[in-house]
Amino acid sequence: MFESLSDRLSGVFDRLTKQGALSEDDVKTALREVRVALLEADVSLPVARDFIKKVQEAATGQAVTKSVTPGQQVVKIVHDALVDVLTGEGEPGALKIDSPPAPILMVGLQGGGKTTTTAKLAKRLKEKDGKRVLMASLDIYRPAAMDQLAVLGTQVGVDTLPIVKGQKPADIAKRAKQQATMGGYDVYMLDTAGRLHIDEVLMGEVEEVSKIVDPRETLLVVDGLTGQVAVEVAQEFDDKVGISGVVLTRMDGDGRGGAALSMRAVTGKPIKFVGLGEKMDALETFEPDRIAGRILGMGDIVSLVEKAQETIEAEQAERMMKRFAKGQFNMNDLKMQLEQMIKMGGMQGIMGMMPGMKKMAKQAEASGMDDKVLKQQIALIQSMTKRERANPGLLQASRKKRIAAGAGMQVSDLNKLLKMQRQMSDMMKKMGKMGKGKMLKQAMG
Ligand code: GDP
Repeated sequence: MFESLSDRLSGVFDRLTKQGALSEDDVKTALREVRVALLEADVSLPVARDFIKKVQEAATGQAVTKSVTPGQQVVKIVHDALVDVLTGEGEPGALKIDSPPAPILMVGLQGGGKTTTTAKLAKRLKEKDGKRVLMASLDIYRPAAMDQLAVLGTQVGVDTLPIVKGQKPADIAKRAKQQATMGGYDVYMLDTAGRLHIDEVLMGEVEEVSKIVDPRETLLVVDGLTGQVAVEVAQEFDDKVGISGVVLTRMDGDGRGGAALSMRAVTGKPIKFVGLGEKMDALETFEPDRIAGRILGMGDIVSLVEKAQETIEAEQAERMMKRFAKGQFNMNDLKMQLEQMIKMGGMQGIMGMMPGMKKMAKQAEASGMDDKVLKQQIALIQSMTKRERANPGLLQASRKKRIAAGAGMQVSDLNKLLKMQRQMSDMMKKMGKMGKGKMLKQAMG
């Protein structure tokens, strides 16, 4: 198994966080490793080089924020640079499909997920955009491919062009156009034949069809796991037939987020969608922020650190981040949070930054949860044994009574505190999982 880009980068940042301030040497050392990591994740050399240059420029111009470790700072800079490269123009996932019937040409190599994606996209257009869609398979070499599209069409409730044996792709395309016009369809999608490798016949055929229907969109479907190969395929298709966008499939697999980066940088074409599974609804718009988070492997933690930087001691934030990344959050963490809140002047602190916690923080504030309450909660935690703090689930009713009494509080106060810790812990578990590469799937699914 290859080491993912996120794993490698995490390693780099781990080493950096142990050092003091961000020196030029630090930046250089870190970026050398980032470069190796990018190359190993199948990002092409020129792209990696460009990317590094960009980050270096950004880093050099930037003053080191007080109380931030070099690692945190670099995480942020690398993250921003990734988003920058990945961002295409226009709305993510937007398609030019006004003026019906709008033709969409689906191209790509065999096995890349073209037919599946055609049906997924048709379903999306129908359900999300309320479009009437017609699909047609031009794969005359594999009769099974035509049947496959028909079956998927039935499954997602989208019409397919009746199969006429012996027709050439160009004739099928003409027939699809005609039927789409007469049948009042908004969009018609042409699923072209794939080959194992790019060849003249395939390209000639796609070119011919493209001339006949003059597609509004020509979407290249490529397997996101094939890395560099996917980028070469994209370049060839773009040279020969001109593509308007890319769909990266199999992004649900463990993976080289690197392909997305190269694809964007090399072809300059927008990545419009990502395929996240075999199911018909496993298609999502491409979100640069999410992919950057995935490549970096630190997901939401990046933004958390971003905001915490200004107020939290670097060391504390670092320790916290590591524990959060592992999905851990016990009473000691909660105590640290409560202390932090007092320091930051209330509930707007860390809790307010976490998804789902905002509401809780507001409620707490509304119910008069001020410093006094925070201090009482800290006192409750201090009444617990070390073991209980690490694992509050162990607390029995009798212990709860003693702890509450020890802090001069009620058991109901302690229960509230326990509930808060459980909610935070659940949140961390979710975030921890995301950090391990499942982030994309979770966040999107
Ligand atoms: P085509 O030859 O390019 O038309 O490829 P198909 O659409 O037949 O897809 C080939 C295989 O890849 C099928 O088994 C699909 O279910 C699977 N597949 C397509 N897209 C995805 C995806 O995003 N994730 C996963 N895990 N499998 C996919």
